Amino acid sequence: MKRVNVILLVVAFLAASNMGYSRTIAPPYEVGTWQGFKTAAVTWTHDDDCSNQLAIAIPLYNQYGMKATFFLVTDWVTNWTPWATAACQGHEIASHTVTHSRLGGMSIANQILEYSNSQTTINTNCSCSDCLTIAYPNCANGDYATLAQYFIAGRNCSGANNTTTPGNFFEINSYICGSRGTVKTTADFITRFSSVQTAGGWLVLLIHGIDSDGGYSPLPSTVLTGAVQYLDTNKNNFWVATFVNVACYIKERDDVSVSETTVTDTAITLAVTDTLDNTIYNYAVTLRRPLPAGWASAAVTQNGHSVDSLIVTVNSVNYVMFNVVPDGGTVVLTKTGQSQAPAAPTGLTAAAGTGTISLDWNNNNESDLAGYNVYRSITSGSGYSKLNSSLVTTSAYADNTVINGTTYYYVVIAVNTGNYESAYSGQVSATPVGGGATSMHVHSIVVTTVPQGAKLKGRAIVVIKDNNGNPVSNATVTGTFTGSFNETRTGTTDATGTATIDTYSSYQKSSVTSIHFCVTNVTGSLTYNSGANVVTCADWQP
Ligand SMILES: [Zn+2]
Repeated sequence: MKRVNVILLVVAFLAASNMGYSRTIAPPYEVGTWQGFKTAAVTWTHDDDCSNQLAIAIPLYNQYGMKATFFLVTDWVTNWTPWATAACQGHEIASHTVTHSRLGGMSIANQILEYSNSQTTINTNCSCSDCLTIAYPNCANGDYATLAQYFIAGRNCSGANNTTTPGNFFEINSYICGSRGTVKTTADFITRFSSVQTAGGWLVLLIHGIDSDGGYSPLPSTVLTGAVQYLDTNKNNFWVATFVNVACYIKERDDVSVSETTVTDTAITLAVTDTLDNTIYNYAVTLRRPLPAGWASAAVTQNGHSVDSLIVTVNSVNYVMFNVVPDGGTVVLTKTGQSQAPAAPTGLTAAAGTGTISLDWNNNNESDLAGYNVYRSITSGSGYSKLNSSLVTTSAYADNTVINGTTYYYVVIAVNTGNYESAYSGQVSATPVGGGATSMHVHSIVVTTVPQGAKLKGRAIVVIKDNNGNPVSNATVTGTFTGSFNETRTGTTDATGTATIDTYSSYQKSSVTSIHFCVTNVTGSLTYNSGANVVTCADWQP
């Protein structure tokens, strides 16, 4: 213990010199006042090796997963085996001196014997134990500087809560329980628990005898059971831990530094360090940070090993909360979750316009949906390339980069906030029209007469348009006049697509009683599609 003792003295000096905390916690990280960010800490302590501590208390704590502290008078222990077993279960076996003599007024030399020999005896007999704390017999503390050579904290019995950072770790307050104490009933315990919950501090309870084991100030086991059950029921508020672990936690919490060393989209590496002696201060502190944007959850490792972590929601913010040991190795937060990609979009349709194709599909309903990507190919079933530069956030898309007359094939995918992509939707295709017209047809015919002196000619005014609705020039229109005329004539369309076709013959007005005109053919650069004619024949009557 020699090396440790020197460092403990340095730590004690730093604390005494009131230099304040050395820690730096880089935002957005926070360190929990208590492990798990719980509201208050509670420690069960037991003195004097009373027999029901082994027979009743330890099985009760084990049933509820709680760890307690047992301060043993080493000269009084006749069988170390059950205490060694308890130490290996995670309970703390610590010093109540060798002889239970009053430390106040005892010579330094004799104090050293009480501290050193009890510590050595415990560490020798309990392989899982590292005796680092002491409870003073009759609640009378020894010399603080001497105590600090052997221990990191000492417990008295002054009947008060401890603050989040006690001013002197060798004056840790406790409440005496049982018939001679102030905490006698389960209701008394609940009063103490409520008090420390309000204060946010550290409650240490001191129990000697249980039931009729002959120990000092006996506590009924039924009362202890009720108190343990209350803490279990309210475990979201109370961190129940051993005396040494709470003391370690406080010192580490007040000393730890946290900073990010590397950050990528999917992993954050942290340095979590302190200035304390790592052979003693190797207890995990609780850190948390809001989940990075786009992270649904996170896995946490330290030194390559998985550590306890949870996703918690505080004031509508999702945090990853994790327990790591300062100076215990590199901490890595890795993005996890959302291994389930969103469903492929359904109901995709494509509608062609002139120079555009409009896509529409059903809304995906995943709560973590981020948007959609639209892919296009000119080959059915393959060769897709993404059209949108940023995520499409509505379930529709207009592709204005199409060439008329070309057939395009489309699929859409959904993307969630974790950047996980769905499979392709079903494929649709469309061919925009316009520009490259392929056919022409008769759009309109007006039949009329033209005066020739006292006579009349027949006239048909024919408009030809293409399949985009644009006028077609230089098309030759052939048509037949019947009725008062009987001729087949031709005409050529102008820039407005209009051909004016007159009869060759002219007749007296009185003999022109009806004119019927039908287009029989149209020739030109485009194919004549008579099936697309708006009209093919028209009439005139006086
Ligand atoms: Zn005692």
